[in-house]
Amino acid sequence: MCNILQVRWTISPQTAPRPWIACSTCGCLKPFRSSGKVRLNANGRRLDAWLIYKCVDCDKTWNRTLFERRNLRELAPATLEALQHSDPSWVRAQEFDLDGLKRKAKRIEEPPDAVVAKETVREAVDWAKLEIEIAAKLSANLRLDRLLASELAISRSRLQALHDRGNLNVHPDRSDVLRHRARDGMRIVLDLSDAVDRQAIGHAAIHSEGH
Ligand SMILES: [Zn+2]
Repeated sequence: MCNILQVRWTISPQTAPRPWIACSTCGCLKPFRSSGKVRLNANGRRLDAWLIYKCVDCDKTWNRTLFERRNLRELAPATLEALQHSDPSWVRAQEFDLDGLKRKAKRIEEPPDAVVAKETVREAVDWAKLEIEIAAKLSANLRLDRLLASELAISRSRLQALHDRGNLNVHPDRSDVLRHRARDGMRIVLDLSDAVDRQAIGHAAIHSEGH
């Protein structure tokens, strides 16, 4: 019996993470934004690469090391091409490399301005369960309960109650999963067979607000 409405939400963060760096002009720690530009320095067969960031207040630059003294032969031709042209999608992947950024900065600001695109994977007429699959190629600063509350238009306390009763399950699970960020590949299954507003929740799961 097919009683599951399946949807996919694709999360696209808009503003890249901003590391807080000591700005010598401002004289204190400031968030730095990516300029989107890569700087290269070749020394014989060795290559250095940096991603250029700028202080949000004074435009002072900070060069984030991507790699140093890399032998040209170790670089895939596609990577070299992307570096030479500051390829936007390649640069974007670096900008959202939180682990790499955490090695350079203690504090990283992640503007919570992600866009959520919704699509129906499998329709069902008399559905009782709603299954949401999360697609997030870039890490977005979005707590799972906040995401579900805003996109399904139901309260976080109700989500917590559903979770406590076993009517909201997350795969893969972890402790306090609702308070952690929504991750790529996550599946959320809500059993709404007892919910009188099931149709409204299903509508919200499929349609973006204002569309
Ligand atoms: Zn500054």
